[in-house]
Amino acid sequence: MPPLSVQELLAKQSQGGENRPRFVSKKEREAHRAAEQEATSRAEADRIARLKRARAAWEQAGPSSEASAPPPSDPELSRIKQQYLGTRDDRGPRRPKRARDASKKFHFEWDADDDTSDPSLAPAPAAALLQGRAGLDGSERTSSGRSTMKSTLDEKPWSEKSLGEMKARDWRIFREDFQIQARGGDLPNPLRSWRESTIPAPVLEAIEAMGYREPTPIQRQAIPIGLEPRDLIGIAETGSGKTASFVVPMLAHVQRQPRLTEDTQHLGPYALILAPTRELAQQIETETRKFAARLGFRVVSLVGGRDLNEQAFYLNDGAEIVIATPGRLQDCLERHILVLGQCHFLVMDEADRMVDMNYEEALHYILASLPSAEGGGRITMLYSATMPPTVESIARTYLRRPATVIIGQAGQAVGTVEQRVEFVDDEAHRQRRLLELLDSGFGAPMIVFVNQKANADLVGRDLRRAGWHVAVLHSGLSQPQREAAIASLREGRNEVLCCTDIGARGIDLPDVSLVVNYQFPTQFPSYIHRIGRTGRAGKQGCAVSFVNDDDAEHFYELRLALSKSPVSTVPAELAQHPAALQRSTS
Ligand code: ADP
Ligand code: MG
Repeated sequence: MPPLSVQELLAKQSQGGENRPRFVSKKEREAHRAAEQEATSRAEADRIARLKRARAAWEQAGPSSEASAPPPSDPELSRIKQQYLGTRDDRGPRRPKRARDASKKFHFEWDADDDTSDPSLAPAPAAALLQGRAGLDGSERTSSGRSTMKSTLDEKPWSEKSLGEMKARDWRIFREDFQIQARGGDLPNPLRSWRESTIPAPVLEAIEAMGYREPTPIQRQAIPIGLEPRDLIGIAETGSGKTASFVVPMLAHVQRQPRLTEDTQHLGPYALILAPTRELAQQIETETRKFAARLGFRVVSLVGGRDLNEQAFYLNDGAEIVIATPGRLQDCLERHILVLGQCHFLVMDEADRMVDMNYEEALHYILASLPSAEGGGRITMLYSATMPPTVESIARTYLRRPATVIIGQAGQAVGTVEQRVEFVDDEAHRQRRLLELLDSGFGAPMIVFVNQKANADLVGRDLRRAGWHVAVLHSGLSQPQREAAIASLREGRNEVLCCTDIGARGIDLPDVSLVVNYQFPTQFPSYIHRIGRTGRAGKQGCAVSFVNDDDAEHFYELRLALSKSPVSTVPAELAQHPAALQRSTS
Protein backbone atom coordinates (compact mmCIF):
# COMPACT_ATOMS: atom_id res chain seq x y z
CA MET A 1 0.00 0.00 0.00
CA PRO A 2 1.49 3.39 -0.92
CA PRO A 3 2.06 5.69 2.04
CA LEU A 4 -0.68 8.19 2.71
CA SER A 5 -0.08 11.68 3.87
CA VAL A 6 -1.75 12.91 7.02
CA GLN A 7 -3.86 15.22 4.92
CA GLU A 8 -5.11 12.34 2.81
CA LEU A 9 -5.83 10.23 5.83
CA LEU A 10 -7.71 13.04 7.47
CA ALA A 11 -9.60 13.83 4.29
CA LYS A 12 -10.60 10.19 3.96
CA GLN A 13 -11.78 10.01 7.50
CA SER A 14 -13.79 13.19 7.29
CA GLN A 15 -15.87 11.97 4.40
CA GLY A 16 -17.89 9.94 6.79
CA GLY A 17 -19.13 13.25 8.17
CA GLU A 18 -20.69 14.04 11.45
CA ASN A 19 -23.44 11.51 11.15
CA ARG A 20 -21.06 8.71 11.93
CA PRO A 21 -21.80 7.56 15.44
CA ARG A 22 -18.98 8.08 17.88
CA PHE A 23 -19.74 4.98 19.86
CA VAL A 24 -21.14 1.72 18.74
CA SER A 25 -24.82 1.25 19.48
CA LYS A 26 -26.14 -1.91 21.05
CA LYS A 27 -27.60 -2.94 17.74
CA GLU A 28 -24.29 -2.50 16.00
CA ARG A 29 -22.50 -4.37 18.73
CA GLU A 30 -24.82 -7.29 18.29
CA ALA A 31 -24.33 -7.16 14.57
CA HIS A 32 -20.60 -7.04 15.13
CA ARG A 33 -20.68 -10.07 17.38
CA ALA A 34 -22.67 -11.96 14.80
CA ALA A 35 -20.08 -10.95 12.23
CA GLU A 36 -17.33 -12.22 14.46
CA GLN A 37 -18.93 -15.59 14.76
CA GLU A 38 -19.26 -15.64 11.07
CA ALA A 39 -15.61 -14.75 10.82
CA THR A 40 -14.62 -18.00 12.38
CA SER A 41 -16.43 -19.84 9.67
CA ARG A 42 -15.35 -20.66 6.19
CA ALA A 43 -17.13 -17.56 4.85
CA GLU A 44 -14.42 -15.37 6.33
CA ALA A 45 -12.47 -14.83 3.15
CA ASP A 46 -15.64 -13.63 1.45
CA ARG A 47 -16.41 -11.24 4.23
CA ILE A 48 -13.01 -9.61 4.10
CA ALA A 49 -13.29 -9.18 0.39
CA ARG A 50 -16.69 -7.56 0.90
CA LEU A 51 -15.34 -5.25 3.56
CA LYS A 52 -12.55 -4.16 1.29
CA ARG A 53 -14.95 -3.56 -1.58
CA ALA A 54 -17.26 -1.57 0.67
CA ARG A 55 -14.37 0.52 1.88
CA ALA A 56 -13.10 1.16 -1.61
CA ALA A 57 -16.60 2.07 -2.79
CA TRP A 58 -17.11 4.37 0.16
CA GLU A 59 -13.79 6.07 -0.40
CA GLN A 60 -14.66 6.73 -4.00
CA ALA A 61 -18.24 7.77 -3.39
CA GLY A 62 -17.43 10.47 -0.86
CA PRO A 63 -19.95 12.45 1.19
CA SER A 64 -22.91 11.83 -1.10
CA SER A 65 -23.12 8.24 0.05
CA GLU A 66 -23.52 9.05 3.72
CA ALA A 67 -26.27 6.53 4.06
CA SER A 68 -23.93 3.65 3.36
CA ALA A 69 -22.18 2.06 6.28
CA PRO A 70 -18.98 3.80 7.33
CA PRO A 71 -15.85 1.80 6.60
CA PRO A 72 -13.40 0.67 9.21
CA SER A 73 -11.64 3.86 10.18
CA ASP A 74 -9.84 5.74 12.93
CA PRO A 75 -12.29 8.07 14.63
CA GLU A 76 -9.36 9.75 16.34
CA LEU A 77 -8.05 11.11 13.08
CA SER A 78 -11.32 12.70 12.12
CA ARG A 79 -11.40 14.33 15.52
CA ILE A 80 -7.98 15.88 14.94
CA LYS A 81 -9.26 17.19 11.71
CA GLN A 82 -12.41 18.58 13.30
CA GLN A 83 -10.45 20.29 16.00
CA TYR A 84 -7.53 21.65 14.11
CA LEU A 85 -8.22 21.86 10.44
CA GLY A 86 -11.65 23.37 11.02
CA THR A 87 -13.14 21.21 8.32
CA ARG A 88 -15.99 19.86 10.36
CA ASP A 89 -19.02 20.11 8.15
CA ASP A 90 -22.14 21.43 9.71
CA ARG A 91 -24.74 18.85 9.12
CA GLY A 92 -26.66 19.43 12.29
CA PRO A 93 -25.58 19.24 15.89
CA ARG A 94 -23.18 16.62 17.13
CA ARG A 95 -24.49 13.89 19.22
CA PRO A 96 -23.98 15.09 22.76
CA LYS A 97 -21.10 13.33 24.36
CA ARG A 98 -21.14 12.20 27.91
CA ALA A 99 -18.39 13.40 30.11
CA ARG A 100 -16.04 10.92 31.79
CA ASP A 101 -16.20 8.34 29.08
CA ALA A 102 -12.47 8.21 28.62
CA SER A 103 -12.44 4.45 28.85
CA LYS A 104 -14.17 4.40 25.51
CA LYS A 105 -11.95 6.87 23.74
CA PHE A 106 -9.78 4.61 21.76
CA HIS A 107 -11.65 2.32 19.52
CA PHE A 108 -9.37 1.63 16.65
CA GLU A 109 -10.85 -0.41 13.95
CA TRP A 110 -8.46 -2.05 11.63
CA ASP A 111 -8.83 -3.20 8.16
CA ALA A 112 -6.62 -5.96 6.84
CA ASP A 113 -5.07 -3.25 4.67
CA ASP A 114 -3.97 -1.33 7.70
CA ASP A 115 -1.52 -3.97 8.70
CA THR A 116 1.83 -2.30 8.33
CA SER A 117 3.85 -5.19 9.63
CA ASP A 118 5.80 -7.68 7.61
CA PRO A 119 3.27 -9.36 5.31
CA SER A 120 5.15 -12.61 5.48
CA LEU A 121 4.31 -12.76 9.18
CA ALA A 122 0.64 -11.97 8.73
CA PRO A 123 -1.66 -14.44 10.41
CA ALA A 124 -4.90 -15.72 8.98
CA PRO A 125 -7.08 -12.70 8.22
CA ALA A 126 -9.85 -14.06 10.43
CA ALA A 127 -7.65 -13.85 13.47
CA ALA A 128 -6.40 -10.46 12.42
CA LEU A 129 -9.84 -8.99 12.15
CA LEU A 130 -11.12 -10.55 15.31
CA GLN A 131 -8.18 -9.54 17.42
CA GLY A 132 -7.68 -6.18 15.81
CA ARG A 133 -11.13 -5.14 16.86
CA ALA A 134 -10.97 -6.11 20.45
CA GLY A 135 -12.73 -3.38 22.33
CA LEU A 136 -15.23 -2.52 19.66
CA ASP A 137 -17.63 -5.00 21.10
CA GLY A 138 -17.45 -3.30 24.44
CA SER A 139 -14.94 -5.75 25.85
CA GLU A 140 -13.26 -4.68 29.05
CA ARG A 141 -9.81 -3.26 29.41
CA THR A 142 -7.54 -3.91 32.29
CA SER A 143 -6.05 -1.01 34.16
CA SER A 144 -2.82 -1.56 32.30
CA GLY A 145 -4.74 -0.82 29.12
CA ARG A 146 -4.35 -4.35 27.90
CA SER A 147 -7.32 -5.76 26.09
CA THR A 148 -8.77 -8.70 27.92
CA MET A 149 -10.76 -9.95 25.01
CA LYS A 150 -9.35 -13.34 24.19
CA SER A 151 -9.44 -14.48 20.67
CA THR A 152 -10.25 -18.11 20.40
CA LEU A 153 -7.18 -18.37 18.23
CA ASP A 154 -4.78 -16.63 20.55
CA GLU A 155 -2.83 -18.50 23.17
CA LYS A 156 -1.36 -15.78 25.37
CA PRO A 157 -1.12 -11.98 25.44
CA TRP A 158 1.86 -10.22 23.90
CA SER A 159 3.26 -9.29 27.27
CA GLU A 160 3.89 -12.96 28.00
CA LYS A 161 5.53 -13.67 24.67
CA SER A 162 9.16 -13.46 23.71
CA LEU A 163 10.06 -11.13 20.88
CA GLY A 164 10.38 -14.06 18.52
CA GLU A 165 6.88 -15.28 19.33
CA MET A 166 5.24 -11.97 18.46
CA LYS A 167 2.92 -12.32 15.50
CA ALA A 168 1.44 -9.58 13.37
CA ARG A 169 -1.72 -9.59 15.42
CA ASP A 170 0.26 -9.26 18.66
CA TRP A 171 1.88 -6.15 17.22
CA ARG A 172 -1.51 -4.85 16.28
CA ILE A 173 -2.76 -5.26 19.83
CA PHE A 174 0.47 -3.83 21.17
CA ARG A 175 -0.02 -0.69 19.08
CA GLU A 176 -3.62 -0.48 20.16
CA ASP A 177 -2.67 -0.81 23.82
CA PHE A 178 -0.27 2.12 23.51
CA GLN A 179 -2.62 4.10 21.29
CA ILE A 180 -0.09 4.12 18.50
CA GLN A 181 -1.33 4.70 14.98
CA ALA A 182 1.38 4.20 12.42
CA ARG A 183 1.06 4.42 8.64
CA GLY A 184 3.30 4.51 5.64
CA GLY A 185 4.07 1.16 4.07
CA ASP A 186 6.30 -1.43 5.62
CA LEU A 187 7.02 -0.21 9.14
CA PRO A 188 9.34 -1.67 11.77
CA ASN A 189 7.73 -3.08 14.87
CA PRO A 190 7.48 -0.76 17.86
CA LEU A 191 9.77 -1.14 20.87
CA ARG A 192 8.46 -3.37 23.65
CA SER A 193 11.37 -2.33 25.83
CA TRP A 194 14.69 -0.50 25.53
CA ARG A 195 16.49 -3.79 25.92
CA GLU A 196 14.96 -5.28 22.79
CA SER A 197 15.93 -2.39 20.56
CA THR A 198 18.85 -1.93 18.17
CA ILE A 199 19.79 1.37 19.76
CA PRO A 200 23.62 1.62 19.96
CA ALA A 201 24.90 0.52 23.37
CA PRO A 202 26.34 3.89 24.52
CA VAL A 203 23.00 5.57 23.79
CA LEU A 204 21.20 2.83 25.70
CA GLU A 205 23.50 3.45 28.64
CA ALA A 206 22.66 7.13 28.55
CA ILE A 207 18.94 6.32 28.50
CA GLU A 208 19.40 4.15 31.54
CA ALA A 209 21.47 6.79 33.31
CA MET A 210 18.66 9.29 32.75
CA GLY A 211 16.23 6.98 34.47
CA TYR A 212 13.97 6.40 31.48
CA ARG A 213 12.77 2.96 32.44
CA GLU A 214 10.25 2.42 29.66
CA PRO A 215 9.95 4.14 26.29
CA THR A 216 6.94 6.45 25.92
CA PRO A 217 4.47 5.54 23.13
CA ILE A 218 5.94 7.99 20.62
CA GLN A 219 9.43 6.69 21.43
CA ARG A 220 8.27 3.09 20.98
CA GLN A 221 7.25 3.68 17.39
CA ALA A 222 9.32 6.67 16.22
CA ILE A 223 12.71 5.36 17.33
CA PRO A 224 12.65 2.13 15.29
CA ILE A 225 11.48 4.12 12.25
CA GLY A 226 14.22 6.69 12.78
CA LEU A 227 16.82 3.93 13.18
CA GLU A 228 15.92 2.35 9.83
CA PRO A 229 16.35 5.27 8.93
CA ARG A 230 13.19 6.69 7.41
CA ASP A 231 11.44 10.04 7.18
CA LEU A 232 8.81 10.55 9.81
CA ILE A 233 5.90 12.76 10.74
CA GLY A 234 5.30 12.51 14.47
CA ILE A 235 2.19 13.80 16.19
CA ALA A 236 1.88 13.36 19.94
CA GLU A 237 0.64 15.32 22.89
CA THR A 238 2.86 17.66 24.86
CA GLY A 239 5.10 16.13 27.47
CA SER A 240 5.09 12.75 25.80
CA GLY A 241 8.84 12.45 25.25
CA LYS A 242 9.12 13.57 21.64
CA THR A 243 12.63 14.96 22.13
CA ALA A 244 14.25 11.61 22.89
CA SER A 245 12.24 10.04 20.06
CA PHE A 246 14.26 12.03 17.54
CA VAL A 247 17.47 12.49 19.48
CA VAL A 248 18.07 8.73 19.78
CA PRO A 249 17.90 7.97 16.02
CA MET A 250 19.84 11.15 15.34
CA LEU A 251 22.71 9.98 17.55
CA ALA A 252 22.68 6.59 15.86
CA HIS A 253 23.01 8.41 12.53
CA VAL A 254 25.89 10.56 13.73
CA GLN A 255 27.60 7.48 15.09
CA ARG A 256 27.58 5.89 11.65
CA GLN A 257 29.54 8.84 10.19
CA PRO A 258 33.34 9.14 10.29
CA ARG A 259 34.51 11.25 13.23
CA LEU A 260 34.86 14.93 12.42
CA THR A 261 38.49 15.94 12.00
CA GLU A 262 40.20 19.25 11.50
CA ASP A 263 39.91 18.62 7.80
CA THR A 264 36.21 17.86 7.79
CA GLN A 265 34.69 19.98 10.53
CA HIS A 266 34.39 23.04 8.29
CA LEU A 267 31.99 21.00 6.17
CA GLY A 268 29.41 21.45 8.90
CA PRO A 269 27.36 19.33 11.25
CA TYR A 270 26.00 15.84 10.60
CA ALA A 271 22.61 16.60 12.12
CA LEU A 272 20.43 19.66 12.55
CA ILE A 273 17.46 20.27 14.82
CA LEU A 274 15.22 23.26 14.15
CA ALA A 275 12.98 24.61 16.89
CA PRO A 276 10.69 27.66 16.97
CA THR A 277 11.94 29.44 20.09
CA ARG A 278 15.26 30.06 21.75
CA GLU A 279 14.11 28.50 24.98
CA LEU A 280 12.98 25.36 23.28
CA ALA A 281 16.21 25.12 21.27
CA GLN A 282 18.20 25.41 24.47
CA GLN A 283 16.05 22.84 26.20
CA ILE A 284 16.61 20.40 23.34
CA GLU A 285 20.32 21.23 23.55
CA THR A 286 20.38 20.27 27.23
CA GLU A 287 18.55 17.01 26.58
CA THR A 288 20.77 16.20 23.58
CA ARG A 289 23.96 16.96 25.51
CA LYS A 290 23.06 14.38 28.15
CA PHE A 291 23.18 11.73 25.44
CA ALA A 292 25.81 13.22 23.18
CA ALA A 293 28.39 13.75 25.91
CA ARG A 294 28.73 10.01 26.40
CA LEU A 295 29.37 9.54 22.72
CA GLY A 296 31.86 12.40 22.51
CA PHE A 297 29.74 14.46 20.11
CA ARG A 298 29.71 18.22 20.24
CA VAL A 299 26.43 20.09 20.30
CA VAL A 300 26.14 23.80 19.47
CA SER A 301 23.00 25.88 19.51
CA LEU A 302 22.45 28.89 17.30
CA VAL A 303 19.69 31.10 18.65
CA GLY A 304 18.78 34.74 18.29
CA GLY A 305 19.47 37.18 21.09
CA ARG A 306 22.94 35.76 21.72
CA ASP A 307 26.11 37.17 20.33
CA LEU A 308 26.66 35.87 16.82
CA ASN A 309 30.43 35.99 17.12
CA GLU A 310 30.37 33.93 20.25
CA GLN A 311 28.27 31.29 18.56
CA ALA A 312 30.52 31.36 15.48
CA PHE A 313 33.45 30.80 17.84
CA TYR A 314 31.92 27.59 19.19
CA LEU A 315 31.38 26.41 15.63
CA ASN A 316 35.09 26.89 14.91
CA ASP A 317 35.88 23.71 16.77
CA GLY A 318 33.30 21.84 14.78
CA ALA A 319 30.07 20.31 15.99
CA GLU A 320 28.39 17.09 14.99
CA ILE A 321 24.99 18.43 16.00
CA VAL A 322 23.56 21.91 15.60
CA ILE A 323 20.31 23.04 17.20
CA ALA A 324 18.93 26.29 15.87
CA THR A 325 16.03 28.65 15.51
CA PRO A 326 15.28 29.24 11.81
CA GLY A 327 15.91 32.99 11.76
CA ARG A 328 19.36 32.81 13.32
CA LEU A 329 20.38 29.81 11.25
CA GLN A 330 19.41 31.57 8.03
CA ASP A 331 21.53 34.50 9.16
CA CYS A 332 24.50 32.20 9.80
CA LEU A 333 24.10 30.52 6.41
CA GLU A 334 23.88 33.83 4.60
CA ARG A 335 27.06 35.02 6.29
CA HIS A 336 28.80 31.74 5.49
CA ILE A 337 29.46 31.10 9.17
CA LEU A 338 28.10 27.64 8.61
CA VAL A 339 27.48 25.24 5.75
CA LEU A 340 25.20 22.21 5.79
CA GLY A 341 26.70 20.18 3.00
CA GLN A 342 27.13 17.02 5.06
CA CYS A 343 24.04 17.38 7.18
CA HIS A 344 21.98 14.35 6.24
CA PHE A 345 19.69 14.31 9.28
CA LEU A 346 17.16 17.06 9.92
CA VAL A 347 14.54 17.43 12.64
CA MET A 348 11.86 20.11 12.58
CA ASP A 349 10.38 20.23 16.07
CA GLU A 350 7.07 22.00 16.66
CA ALA A 351 6.72 22.65 12.95
CA ASP A 352 3.28 24.19 13.34
CA ARG A 353 4.67 26.73 15.75
CA MET A 354 7.50 27.59 13.36
CA VAL A 355 4.90 28.32 10.70
CA ASP A 356 2.84 30.37 13.17
CA MET A 357 5.92 32.43 13.86
CA ASN A 358 6.38 33.18 10.17
CA TYR A 359 9.51 31.10 9.82
CA GLU A 360 8.25 29.46 6.67
CA GLU A 361 10.53 31.44 4.39
CA ALA A 362 13.54 30.79 6.59
CA LEU A 363 12.66 27.08 6.56
CA HIS A 364 12.62 27.04 2.76
CA TYR A 365 15.99 28.80 2.71
CA ILE A 366 17.50 26.34 5.17
CA LEU A 367 16.11 23.31 3.42
CA ALA A 368 17.57 24.53 0.14
CA SER A 369 20.99 24.58 1.84
CA LEU A 370 20.77 20.95 2.94
CA PRO A 371 21.53 17.85 0.88
CA SER A 372 18.33 16.96 -0.94
CA ALA A 373 16.01 14.21 0.24
CA GLU A 374 16.09 12.61 -3.18
CA GLY A 375 17.81 9.27 -3.38
CA GLY A 376 17.93 8.99 0.38
CA GLY A 377 20.30 11.94 0.69
CA ARG A 378 18.63 13.20 3.83
CA ILE A 379 16.51 11.86 6.66
CA THR A 380 13.89 14.34 7.79
CA MET A 381 11.72 14.12 10.88
CA LEU A 382 8.90 16.55 11.38
CA TYR A 383 7.14 16.87 14.71
CA SER A 384 4.01 18.86 15.19
CA ALA A 385 1.10 18.93 17.58
CA THR A 386 -1.32 19.96 14.85
CA MET A 387 -1.27 19.56 11.07
CA PRO A 388 -2.44 22.80 9.47
CA PRO A 389 -2.23 22.86 5.65
CA THR A 390 1.00 24.88 5.70
CA VAL A 391 2.79 22.20 7.72
CA GLU A 392 1.30 19.50 5.53
CA SER A 393 2.69 21.28 2.49
CA ILE A 394 6.15 21.53 4.09
CA ALA A 395 5.96 17.80 4.79
CA ARG A 396 4.95 17.06 1.22
CA THR A 397 7.75 19.16 -0.21
CA TYR A 398 10.62 18.07 2.01
CA LEU A 399 9.86 14.60 3.32
CA ARG A 400 10.28 11.51 1.20
CA ARG A 401 7.74 8.73 1.68
CA PRO A 402 7.38 9.55 5.36
CA ALA A 403 5.96 7.21 7.95
CA THR A 404 3.30 8.86 10.05
CA VAL A 405 2.98 8.16 13.74
CA ILE A 406 0.06 9.56 15.65
CA ILE A 407 -0.21 8.85 19.35
CA GLY A 408 -3.50 8.72 21.17
CA GLN A 409 -5.38 11.92 21.33
CA ALA A 410 -2.96 14.03 19.33
CA GLY A 411 -3.79 17.71 19.52
CA GLN A 412 -5.78 17.23 22.69
CA ALA A 413 -4.89 17.99 26.23
CA VAL A 414 -3.02 15.44 28.27
CA GLY A 415 -5.36 13.11 30.16
CA THR A 416 -3.61 13.83 33.45
CA VAL A 417 -4.55 17.53 33.50
CA GLU A 418 -7.68 18.48 35.37
CA GLN A 419 -9.16 21.35 33.39
CA ARG A 420 -11.33 23.86 35.24
CA VAL A 421 -13.12 26.86 33.82
CA GLU A 422 -14.23 29.77 35.96
CA PHE A 423 -16.38 32.68 34.82
CA VAL A 424 -15.11 36.00 36.14
CA ASP A 425 -17.10 39.23 36.34
CA ASP A 426 -14.38 41.86 36.19
CA GLU A 427 -10.69 42.56 36.69
CA ALA A 428 -10.98 42.64 40.47
CA HIS A 429 -12.63 39.23 40.46
CA ARG A 430 -9.81 37.87 38.28
CA GLN A 431 -7.17 39.21 40.64
CA ARG A 432 -8.92 37.89 43.72
CA ARG A 433 -9.44 34.42 42.27
CA LEU A 434 -5.83 34.22 41.12
CA LEU A 435 -4.56 34.90 44.63
CA GLU A 436 -7.02 32.43 46.12
CA LEU A 437 -5.95 29.75 43.69
CA LEU A 438 -2.24 30.22 44.22
CA ASP A 439 -2.93 30.06 47.92
CA SER A 440 -5.01 26.91 47.80
CA GLY A 441 -2.23 24.43 48.34
CA PHE A 442 -0.68 23.75 44.93
CA GLY A 443 3.07 23.46 45.23
CA ALA A 444 5.61 25.47 43.24
CA PRO A 445 6.22 25.83 40.38
CA MET A 446 3.00 27.35 39.09
CA ILE A 447 2.49 29.21 35.81
CA VAL A 448 0.15 32.14 35.14
CA PHE A 449 -0.53 32.92 31.48
CA VAL A 450 -1.59 36.31 30.20
CA ASN A 451 -1.99 37.60 26.64
CA GLN A 452 0.16 40.75 26.56
CA LYS A 453 3.66 41.58 27.69
CA ALA A 454 2.44 44.54 29.73
CA ASN A 455 -0.02 42.32 31.53
CA ALA A 456 2.70 39.85 32.42
CA ASP A 457 4.59 42.69 34.09
CA LEU A 458 1.47 43.96 35.86
CA VAL A 459 0.24 40.62 37.13
CA GLY A 460 3.80 39.74 38.12
CA ARG A 461 4.03 42.95 40.13
CA ASP A 462 0.69 42.32 41.86
CA LEU A 463 1.74 38.81 42.82
CA ARG A 464 5.03 40.07 44.21
CA ARG A 465 3.14 42.55 46.31
CA ALA A 466 1.06 39.65 47.60
CA GLY A 467 4.27 38.00 48.74
CA TRP A 468 4.95 35.53 45.96
CA HIS A 469 8.36 34.93 44.41
CA VAL A 470 7.58 35.60 40.78
CA ALA A 471 9.54 35.45 37.53
CA VAL A 472 8.17 37.18 34.44
CA LEU A 473 8.75 35.87 30.91
CA HIS A 474 7.80 37.62 27.68
CA SER A 475 9.35 38.56 24.38
CA GLY A 476 10.13 42.10 25.53
CA LEU A 477 12.93 40.78 27.75
CA SER A 478 16.49 40.17 26.68
CA GLN A 479 17.63 36.62 26.10
CA PRO A 480 19.69 36.43 29.32
CA GLN A 481 16.66 37.74 31.26
CA ARG A 482 14.45 35.10 29.70
CA GLU A 483 16.90 32.36 30.51
CA ALA A 484 17.28 33.63 34.05
CA ALA A 485 13.50 33.58 34.49
CA ILE A 486 13.24 29.92 33.52
CA ALA A 487 16.31 28.97 35.54
CA SER A 488 14.89 30.66 38.65
CA LEU A 489 11.82 28.43 38.45
CA ARG A 490 13.83 25.34 37.70
CA GLU A 491 16.09 25.97 40.65
CA GLY A 492 13.23 26.80 42.99
CA ARG A 493 14.25 30.41 43.60
CA ASN A 494 10.88 31.55 42.26
CA GLU A 495 7.51 29.92 42.75
CA VAL A 496 5.39 31.46 40.03
CA LEU A 497 6.14 32.10 36.36
CA CYS A 498 4.02 34.84 34.88
CA CYS A 499 4.28 34.71 31.11
CA THR A 500 2.80 35.23 27.68
CA ASP A 501 2.39 32.50 25.07
CA ILE A 502 6.14 32.46 24.66
CA GLY A 503 6.12 30.04 27.59
CA ALA A 504 3.28 27.97 26.15
CA ARG A 505 5.23 25.71 23.84
CA GLY A 506 7.69 23.04 24.60
CA ILE A 507 9.12 24.49 27.78
CA ASP A 508 9.52 21.59 30.13
CA LEU A 509 9.57 22.77 33.73
CA PRO A 510 9.34 19.68 35.88
CA ASP A 511 6.42 19.23 38.27
CA VAL A 512 4.35 22.29 37.41
CA SER A 513 1.31 21.73 39.63
CA LEU A 514 -0.96 24.50 38.43
CA VAL A 515 -1.47 26.50 35.25
CA VAL A 516 -3.76 29.52 35.42
CA ASN A 517 -5.04 31.15 32.26
CA TYR A 518 -5.48 34.56 33.78
CA GLN A 519 -6.58 35.58 30.33
CA PHE A 520 -7.91 33.03 27.89
CA PRO A 521 -5.64 32.73 24.82
CA THR A 522 -6.82 34.28 21.58
CA GLN A 523 -6.07 31.10 19.60
CA PHE A 524 -7.50 27.84 20.86
CA PRO A 525 -4.46 25.61 20.13
CA SER A 526 -2.58 27.85 22.53
CA TYR A 527 -4.93 26.66 25.26
CA ILE A 528 -3.88 23.06 24.70
CA HIS A 529 -0.22 24.03 24.78
CA ARG A 530 -0.51 26.22 27.84
CA ILE A 531 -2.24 23.57 29.92
CA GLY A 532 0.27 21.00 28.62
CA ARG A 533 2.90 22.69 30.83
CA THR A 534 1.43 20.71 33.70
CA GLY A 535 0.54 17.02 33.99
CA ARG A 536 3.75 16.12 32.16
CA ALA A 537 5.48 12.74 32.13
CA GLY A 538 2.46 11.02 33.66
CA LYS A 539 2.12 13.39 36.62
CA GLN A 540 -1.14 14.99 37.74
CA GLY A 541 -1.76 18.64 37.03
CA CYS A 542 -4.46 21.25 37.23
CA ALA A 543 -5.28 24.04 34.78
CA VAL A 544 -7.75 26.78 35.66
CA SER A 545 -8.98 29.18 32.99
CA PHE A 546 -10.69 32.48 33.73
CA VAL A 547 -13.23 33.37 31.07
CA ASN A 548 -16.01 35.83 30.37
CA ASP A 549 -18.26 36.48 27.40
CA ASP A 550 -15.39 38.02 25.46
CA ASP A 551 -13.96 34.50 25.12
CA ALA A 552 -17.23 33.01 23.85
CA GLU A 553 -15.77 32.13 20.45
CA HIS A 554 -13.71 29.42 22.17
CA PHE A 555 -16.46 27.97 24.38
CA TYR A 556 -17.46 25.24 21.99
CA GLU A 557 -13.94 23.82 21.72
CA LEU A 558 -13.36 24.41 25.39
CA ARG A 559 -16.44 22.41 26.34
CA LEU A 560 -15.28 19.59 24.04
CA ALA A 561 -11.81 19.63 25.57
CA LEU A 562 -13.21 19.36 29.08
CA SER A 563 -15.68 16.66 28.17
CA LYS A 564 -12.91 14.58 26.60
CA SER A 565 -10.75 14.82 29.69
CA PRO A 566 -11.18 11.87 32.03
CA VAL A 567 -10.42 14.04 35.07
CA SER A 568 -12.43 17.18 34.24
CA THR A 569 -16.05 18.23 34.55
CA VAL A 570 -17.76 20.79 32.35
CA PRO A 571 -19.16 23.47 34.67
CA ALA A 572 -22.87 24.19 34.24
CA GLU A 573 -22.26 27.78 33.27
CA LEU A 574 -20.11 26.65 30.34
CA ALA A 575 -22.30 23.69 29.39
CA GLN A 576 -25.37 25.94 29.22
CA HIS A 577 -23.71 28.86 27.50
CA PRO A 578 -25.24 29.34 24.02
CA ALA A 579 -21.78 29.76 22.48
CA ALA A 580 -20.72 26.37 23.84
CA LEU A 581 -23.37 24.56 21.84
CA GLN A 582 -22.23 25.48 18.39
CA ARG A 583 -18.85 25.92 16.83
CA SER A 584 -18.08 29.58 16.33
CA THR A 585 -18.27 30.61 12.69
CA SER A 586 -16.08 33.67 13.09
P1 ADP B 1 7.49 16.69 24.42
O1 ADP B 1 8.58 17.19 23.49
O2 ADP B 1 6.71 15.57 23.85
O3 ADP B 1 6.62 17.80 24.90
P2 ADP B 1 9.71 16.12 26.17
O4 ADP B 1 10.58 15.43 25.20
O5 ADP B 1 10.05 17.54 26.51
O6 ADP B 1 8.19 16.08 25.71
O7 ADP B 1 9.65 15.20 27.49
C1 ADP B 1 8.88 15.54 28.61
C2 ADP B 1 9.56 15.04 29.88
O8 ADP B 1 9.51 13.63 29.95
C3 ADP B 1 11.03 15.43 29.97
O9 ADP B 1 11.29 15.87 31.28
C4 ADP B 1 11.78 14.15 29.69
O10 ADP B 1 13.02 14.11 30.36
C5 ADP B 1 10.82 13.10 30.22
N1 ADP B 1 10.91 11.81 29.50
C6 ADP B 1 11.07 11.64 28.17
N2 ADP B 1 11.08 10.32 27.86
C7 ADP B 1 10.94 9.65 29.02
C8 ADP B 1 10.89 8.24 29.36
N3 ADP B 1 10.98 7.29 28.43
N4 ADP B 1 10.72 7.93 30.67
C9 ADP B 1 10.62 8.91 31.61
N5 ADP B 1 10.67 10.22 31.35
C10 ADP B 1 10.82 10.61 30.07
MG1 MG C 1 9.00 18.95 22.67
